[in-house]
Amino acid sequence: MNQPRAFHVRISPQSPLLLGNQTSISNFQESEDYIPGSTLAGAVGARLLAGCTAPEHQPDHASCPERHACPFWHLFDLGQPQFGFAYPGASSYTFPYPLTARSCKRHPAYDPQSGLPDQRHHGARDSLLASFAYELVSDPAFPHRAALQPDLGADWSLWSSQWWQSFDQCHAPGCQESLDKLTGYYQYAIDQGNVQVFGVAEVDSSRATHVGINRARGVAEESLLFTQDSLDAQGSHHSFHARVVLAAAGADQEAALRQGVVGAHQIGRGRSRGYGDVEIGWVSPSPLPPLSRRIERFAEAVADAFYPYAQEDKRIQASMPGHFFSLTLRSPAIFVQDGQPQRLPDLRDLQLPEELLLMRAWARMQPVGGWDQGLPRRTSLAVNAGSVYLYYAPPTISLDALLPQLETLELTGVGAEREQGYGEVTVCTPFHYLSSLTRLQAFFA
Ligand SMILES: [Zn+2]
Ligand SMILES: [Zn+2]
Repeated sequence: MNQPRAFHVRISPQSPLLLGNQTSISNFQESEDYIPGSTLAGAVGARLLAGCTAPEHQPDHASCPERHACPFWHLFDLGQPQFGFAYPGASSYTFPYPLTARSCKRHPAYDPQSGLPDQRHHGARDSLLASFAYELVSDPAFPHRAALQPDLGADWSLWSSQWWQSFDQCHAPGCQESLDKLTGYYQYAIDQGNVQVFGVAEVDSSRATHVGINRARGVAEESLLFTQDSLDAQGSHHSFHARVVLAAAGADQEAALRQGVVGAHQIGRGRSRGYGDVEIGWVSPSPLPPLSRRIERFAEAVADAFYPYAQEDKRIQASMPGHFFSLTLRSPAIFVQDGQPQRLPDLRDLQLPEELLLMRAWARMQPVGGWDQGLPRRTSLAVNAGSVYLYYAPPTISLDALLPQLETLELTGVGAEREQGYGEVTVCTPFHYLSSLTRLQAFFA
């Protein structure tokens, strides 16, 4: 049987873009800075339907009599492809910063040109493992604490809260500014054989005022003036990066996907006014290290996070048995249990062993949906992109058994509405260990 396979696409804007599901009810319209999976799916589906030789069957394509020759049928027959979210970037697959990302209050993020830190951009840091270690040793009620630090039991550690402050400030030379949350996007690139984090510059936007048309009378009307913010990524080094996963990619399905994806498309709102022209191309995947390597590096970073505490209090072990891993959402995820939206995924739904322990979640929810291609759509609560779940696999779970399960999760995603790009997830994304606050030399000095 064919295995699920991921294909990567780059969407290069040729005109300003108006993205998102907003309707024209308000007289101020903003654009999202990403392309939802449903938008990409719609563009590809429309192109393939236009290539169907029996177009009279378009409203009910299941009865297309030309299935053997129909590219639409070839793509959608073997299960819905999963069209991922496209996020802005420069040259490769991009990710929203996790909710645990921090940056200098005065000189945040990275230089927009190079994507690297410099004197006026003090780079991004990740607080995930620093918070985890600090909270676990300082809070006797921290979940599963006794399983990880049996000698500490339910006692307070000798840790002083003063130490936390050293995590909470910028460590760029000469700067002691406090840290703040960081939003936006980053990407990975290989530099001299090592994976490295690069910041993605914000996409420019511009504001235009349009005169609305009174649809009943078919004339322009001053009272219908509306203001629109559009994304101006055309002619810049920005493009948008997404992934499409085919559940069982055969040659026909792959060819149909390529036919539907590659070339000129129009996406988003305002197409009749010249917005939304894009070129979509096929690109090579992002340079993420193999999962086994990421889990190894993550384990080293966990040990680094506990090391200073272990130095201070002999009851604390820096190196713990078992394995830790993080699940970081690249796109929003929809978890539903008994009809109710959930903030945490269910291990059975993830097809992961139930002995796994959730140590900590950084997850926020907000409504998604509302409108989809002009039609009202059920609104649900989704967990935000960038949310992070930290799990512990006790030594009874073998890494050999866990690895393939996590690889599948990374390929096929989590939660509901994955065909619209919801629930894209990365296991032990390098940002967490490369940028960990606990790796600061200054801290150990
Ligand atoms: Zn057809
Ligand atoms: Zn700073």
